[in-house]
Amino acid sequence: MSRMLFVYNPFSGKGLIKNHLYDILQEFNALDMEIVIHPTKDRLDAFQYIAENEGKFDMIVCSGGDGTLNETVSGVMSYTGSKPPIGYIPSGSTNDFAKSLGIPKKMKHAARHIVNGHPDKVDIGKFNDRYFTYVAAIGAFTKVSYETPQDMKNILGHQAYIIEGIKELTMIKPMSLRIETEKETIEGDFIYGMITNSKSVGGVKGITGKDVSMNDGLFEITFIRQPQNPIQLNNIISGLLMNDYKGETVYFDHVSSVRVIAKEQQIPWVLDGEFGGNLREVNISVQKNAVDLILEKDVK
Ligand SMILES: [Mg+2]
Repeated sequence: MSRMLFVYNPFSGKGLIKNHLYDILQEFNALDMEIVIHPTKDRLDAFQYIAENEGKFDMIVCSGGDGTLNETVSGVMSYTGSKPPIGYIPSGSTNDFAKSLGIPKKMKHAARHIVNGHPDKVDIGKFNDRYFTYVAAIGAFTKVSYETPQDMKNILGHQAYIIEGIKELTMIKPMSLRIETEKETIEGDFIYGMITNSKSVGGVKGITGKDVSMNDGLFEITFIRQPQNPIQLNNIISGLLMNDYKGETVYFDHVSSVRVIAKEQQIPWVLDGEFGGNLREVNISVQKNAVDLILEKDVK
């Protein structure tokens, strides 16, 4: 009998899963697999458990927020042998990645989506020696995502990111950066930067640009320059609210690799909503089609 690992974060999304566990397991019944259930105890528990159990499971399903998915993907990426397909049942507050892949919001439906789905290749980001599934970011907006307590995130949802981010925009110190892609090198002062493989960030659809594909070997890079006057600041804020902020204040491109060097000091990075370290130099590359996710519709 083939085996499934079901790993979930009991505290994600107001502990949403406790009302849905029975329904989820009932859906999984249709798969006729032996199921090992592992509720996570702490941060990195999902990663460690998965990494330590290479070869034991034919499928790994995780439920939780961005952090749980990141740990699951990172655990599978650590395998030297074959990588089992991953199913995802989101329970966090924004779930940009799940939305980008057409995974249903309701947990029972997401479980059925896995039962009816098939493995499909998705790109993963490599960030120095770590991985991220859909966003690596610096500057304004980023503090709120990991410094906001879980229960506040649950209450405020994606609006928290925008409201807190706009507050930060007016106060933030610019970062002096050198950005090297496979196409060009640019330098300047920026207040925000993100490298994404997602159709939304912080619940805001379209903020990562048009023509986003989850398996094209390219990630989108968006760096907002330091505004030089109140008009530029206004353009940035209204652009963020209208999801259309391209122009002289923003450096945007589709790339397969990017190196970001902070010229003056270490800067705090956020990976998939969690603190990713204070760093001077970051090398990011797209790992094309690196993992199989179990999805109903073909990935675009
Ligand atoms: Mg892409």
